[in-house]
Amino acid sequence: MSLFASLPDAVVAVDSGWRITALNQRAASLVQQTREEVLGKPFWETFPEALGAACEQQYQQALQTQVAVRFEVCYPALHAWFQITASPSHGGLVLFFQEMTRHKHEAEAQWRIALAQDITAHKQVEEALRASEHLSQAILDALTAHIAVLDPAGTILAVNEAWRRFARDNSEPGPLAGTEVGANYLEVCRKARGEFAEEAQEALAGILAVLHGSRSHFTLEYPCHSPEEQRWFLMSATPLPEGEGAVVAHITITERKRAEEAVQASEARARRLLESNLIGVVVADGELIVEANDAFLEMVGYTREDLEHRRLNWSAMTPAEYAPLDQRGLQELRERGVCTPFEKEYYRKDGSRIPILIGAATLQEQPVQWACFMLDISERKELERRKDEFISIASHELKTPITVLKGFVQLIQRRLEQQGVSELVQYLAPMQTQLDRLTRLVNELLDVSKIQAGRLDYAEETVDLDALVHEVVEFLQQTSATHTIRLSGASQAHIVGDRDRLSQVFTNLLTNAIKYSPQGQYVDVQIVPSAETVTVSVHDYGVGIARVHQGKIFERFYRVQDYHDKTFPGLGMGLYISQQIVERHGGTLWVVSEEGQGATFSVSLPLPHTEGAAQARAAMSPHGSGLAKGE
Ligand code: ADP
Repeated sequence: MSLFASLPDAVVAVDSGWRITALNQRAASLVQQTREEVLGKPFWETFPEALGAACEQQYQQALQTQVAVRFEVCYPALHAWFQITASPSHGGLVLFFQEMTRHKHEAEAQWRIALAQDITAHKQVEEALRASEHLSQAILDALTAHIAVLDPAGTILAVNEAWRRFARDNSEPGPLAGTEVGANYLEVCRKARGEFAEEAQEALAGILAVLHGSRSHFTLEYPCHSPEEQRWFLMSATPLPEGEGAVVAHITITERKRAEEAVQASEARARRLLESNLIGVVVADGELIVEANDAFLEMVGYTREDLEHRRLNWSAMTPAEYAPLDQRGLQELRERGVCTPFEKEYYRKDGSRIPILIGAATLQEQPVQWACFMLDISERKELERRKDEFISIASHELKTPITVLKGFVQLIQRRLEQQGVSELVQYLAPMQTQLDRLTRLVNELLDVSKIQAGRLDYAEETVDLDALVHEVVEFLQQTSATHTIRLSGASQAHIVGDRDRLSQVFTNLLTNAIKYSPQGQYVDVQIVPSAETVTVSVHDYGVGIARVHQGKIFERFYRVQDYHDKTFPGLGMGLYISQQIVERHGGTLWVVSEEGQGATFSVSLPLPHTEGAAQARAAMSPHGSGLAKGE
């Protein structure tokens, strides 16, 4: 039906008694009648101008001989020339009317040349049409959708296998079940009752609109409850060309609906998370923030209107010094889809800054979209600032009285010696030791606060590393009655750096080695040179460090608390300061340890000719750090 309807020419079929058995819309419009009016009528009544004209003879001849003819004729009533082909079919004729007024002359020439083959060609076309109708039916049957072809009045002309099954099996739920070829689909809709009454009325209106040409397409989604599950269908109606009717299809969309529902549910969950406002949440599309919750807007002092007008650009809101951190985060996002939380600042709308902790995850690859989660850490930062300020003030304040005390102890010691009361001098020795300990603590506190403020300065001098390590080992050996420090290896290396600061590092590592191996007898120090570096390692046979703590012991004030039987004095500053010093020399400090198995701390420093050393020197120079040595 649809193929017939889609032919560009007018086509009329007559039986052996000249009764019209079929015609397409194009033919009906030629005679300005509807197809229904014309169907079944005598041909000569519908096309009266053919009677008595030259063409009547041609038609009669073709019908009688059942041999195809082709000729041209002018229809004055229509002001048109037609090329007419009359082909025999089932004892009658099929007449093709091809309008040719505009192309008459070319067509005439072509026609003369092509007539002989053309008739055969026409046969081929007819056969192809038949074949393609079989093919169309086969394709229709292969489709899982339920498909029916309606004529303009809504009568079901053809259905595919899926529809046939659907109609046969009344147990199959659906608003339009039980429809078969020959039934009027519009009537079925009109009479639908019960569960699908509402959908059926909607379908009726939609199909009517499609059939009347006022809509080019109609779709309707409807649910189908069965005792086991809820299913969903999509009904669609599409017009056939030339007002020939419509194709109606029902397809199952349960899977799609379920997926949609799942997406909606997860969107609702995400939205609830966004609206919980416990933390700031934004969605960024490149550098632009496209979604944000109130918590974030409040943090940065922007309004929802600013957001809607796309005025929030996270890159522009980031102070320049945090750009490298952002880049690192982005890199991680690209590689792993998530980024490790880090601290940064944003410019608020009023120009002030807010410190935040930020973590992010990639939501979508193309185009790239991220969700970022932010925690306002202003309060924590403020506390940290106050703590740092307190440490800085306290250590300065402590320094003076300790220096005065030390001075007086030394003075008293000298006086007592001069007066020959040396038995009293021995009481001053523990005071001296405790004062030295206090001095070390206060100095460490001062170092920490200077590192925090970026004011720890370094001298640039040539350091004989072997000699330095020897010196530290010798000094600590004198103060330790419990451990033997065994030194091995040599580097012959002279590195450029701050002698006192490096001495501080080795002193700290050795002091720890002794302190954290109360049962130990030895501490081993080894110097190992390589082409680019010298590594000094300090190995003890003490309590060791569990894996969980190994990454944290270099943080300031971090101390391991889980020694069951012993407490070790200390404030957790030594390793932090040591690592800062080593890094400023372009080196690295790391630990290898197992709990209960002792520990090896290693310092690796770059040799002067290396790139690492050159970079460290540039960073350490007074121009690099901006300050000279000293407080
Ligand atoms: P502290 O003053 O507490 O010794 P450090 O910064 O020097 O501070 O060390 C931090 C923590 O690392 C210590 O509290 C201790 O738990 C652990 N630690 C350091 N050196 C060793 C070691 N040689 N063996 C075992 N644990 C160690």
